Amino acid sequence: MNTARGAVRPLYAQASGSPIRAMLALAGREDMISLAGGHPDPALLPIEWLRESLLEVTGKLQGRSLQYGATEGQPELREASAALLTQRGLTATAAELIITTGSQQAIDLLARVLIEPGEGIAVESFNYPAALQAFRFAGARLIEVPTDAQGMDVDRLEPILLTERPRVLYVVPNFANPTGAVMPLARRLRLLELAAQYDVTLIEDDPYGELWFGEAPPPPLVQLNQRADSPAQVTYMTSYSKVVAPALRLGVLLAPADIQRAVVLAKQAADVHSGSLEQLKLSAMLGSNCLTPHLDVLRKAYAAKSATLADALRRHADGLLKFDTPQGGMFVWARLRSDLPLLPTQDWVDFGLQHKVLVVPGAAFSISNAAQPWLRLSFANPSPASLQQGAERLGRGLQGLASRTSSNTKTTPERTSA
Ligand code: PMP
Repeated sequence: MNTARGAVRPLYAQASGSPIRAMLALAGREDMISLAGGHPDPALLPIEWLRESLLEVTGKLQGRSLQYGATEGQPELREASAALLTQRGLTATAAELIITTGSQQAIDLLARVLIEPGEGIAVESFNYPAALQAFRFAGARLIEVPTDAQGMDVDRLEPILLTERPRVLYVVPNFANPTGAVMPLARRLRLLELAAQYDVTLIEDDPYGELWFGEAPPPPLVQLNQRADSPAQVTYMTSYSKVVAPALRLGVLLAPADIQRAVVLAKQAADVHSGSLEQLKLSAMLGSNCLTPHLDVLRKAYAAKSATLADALRRHADGLLKFDTPQGGMFVWARLRSDLPLLPTQDWVDFGLQHKVLVVPGAAFSISNAAQPWLRLSFANPSPASLQQGAERLGRGLQGLASRTSSNTKTTPERTSA
């Protein structure tokens, strides 16, 4: 077919695909260990719980599970989600919620309804790539706010708000992807103050907040905001992907009324509504009160896996990587020793193929895509034995890079990944 006139808009035609998705295509190769994807552990997906709930859906709800439904979502799931958020300390009614097709859709719809093309959105230095992609496709200019081990560095935000004047800010305060950082309470309160003062709408993305290992993170921004004297505008989203199953593709959005109305219109245009059968399956699952014990299982299992990977990295990559042991979520965010070369993303793919261990380089999460001295290592999906073996392979590969670097003495210049 002749596409000489360029049917695809340059914004899409020139966009690079997700490097993580590209790596996942390699993850199934024989003998490959993937520390790359943020996929839940298959052994922790609740098959039995689902099977029992399915019988209930097919028996009781009959035709409705196969019928068109409301854009905002099935009433049962909105009610169950409101109860869950209330249990977590938020004030939320079913009427204020929209069920989305994963929290990814909430990000995408908010980008569409909040951002004028060419306008800026403030984001952390390292971000979930598909959120950045959604913002770019909405025509947003990405404004970087420096980030450290405690998440967005709110002290450095005010000058950025003054000069760049973004109306929207995206933040993942709990066990962020990729950094695993948890924003402390004081930063959360300051962020809310600044958001109110400078009239910035916050997009709070919280898919990992329930996956804490030791203690729960501070309350979500939206909850703190509900108690503030001069409240800011906060939209909050969470997801059932990490705590039940990603295949359901179901998330929840809590937004102020004007934003909710706009998102409903955008969702009508996007997919009319999220799948009724999936929503009713999930509401039956939630109705059986199994989520609380399931969360206990997940927390214990992921805490153990996180410790397994951290210990193995200390054994096999000692001195080559520096990281904090995660307190929740799914990721170890590790800094490469300063004499190791800064490699572009493609070189890390080649590294993975050579050493049979896939990791995601920091470039994949940065706004510029420039090479970074960071790796994201996920402990969620592989078995404990694979985590240990993966760390061993990674250590050996990094050792090889280090010895090659010291024999060359020069490091590779920073390059932009494709
Ligand atoms: N936000 C963040 C920070 C994520 O890491 C992810 C998925 N890994 C999502 C949103 C999207 O998740 P889902 O669409 O499965 O709810």
